[in-house]
Amino acid sequence: MNTAYVALGANLGDPAATVRAAFGALANLPESRVVQCSSLYRTAPVGKLDQPEFVNAVARLETTLAPEALLDALLEIEQRFGRIRAEKDGPRTLDLDLLLYNDYFLDLPRLTLPHPRLHLRAFVLYPLAEIAPQLIIPGRGAIAAWLPAVANQGIVKL
Ligand code: ADP
Ligand code: MG
Repeated sequence: MNTAYVALGANLGDPAATVRAAFGALANLPESRVVQCSSLYRTAPVGKLDQPEFVNAVARLETTLAPEALLDALLEIEQRFGRIRAEKDGPRTLDLDLLLYNDYFLDLPRLTLPHPRLHLRAFVLYPLAEIAPQLIIPGRGAIAAWLPAVANQGIVKL
């Protein structure tokens, strides 16, 4: 059995409802079990600023899917949700990122583990620390040490 952490983000339509529905989609993944879900967080957009606020969360899975198979399953869920009210070239209805898979380091063309930007983003670190406060991010160290640096990014627990 393997432990994986998945980040969820949405900023179109009713993003809180989308994230809750996405928890349900994760629960239906084959060979997998959702062990824990974080609270939902409202966060300011990063990068492209002229778009609605996001709702973000993180889930912990136990799975026997291999990392790439899990990624494929996540992208398939994204596509399913992406058809709902998604504007062309606009923000996506749902973003699912594979943050961590055990303590694996992977650098494949379509999958990098740990997720290369996870330690820089409040919208990932806060919900991740909520459900895994003692987590060691492979190659980066204790998650608690990364939280102060992102405390200035706007994030509110819902
Ligand atoms: P972002 O999530 O950074 O906003 P996208 O969701 O558009 O960007 O990026 C999706 C692509 O990133 C996927 O096609 C996937 O192959 C690649 N990718 C690489 N590593 C990961 C990872 N750890 N989790 C999710 N996608 C990843
Ligand atoms: Mg993504």
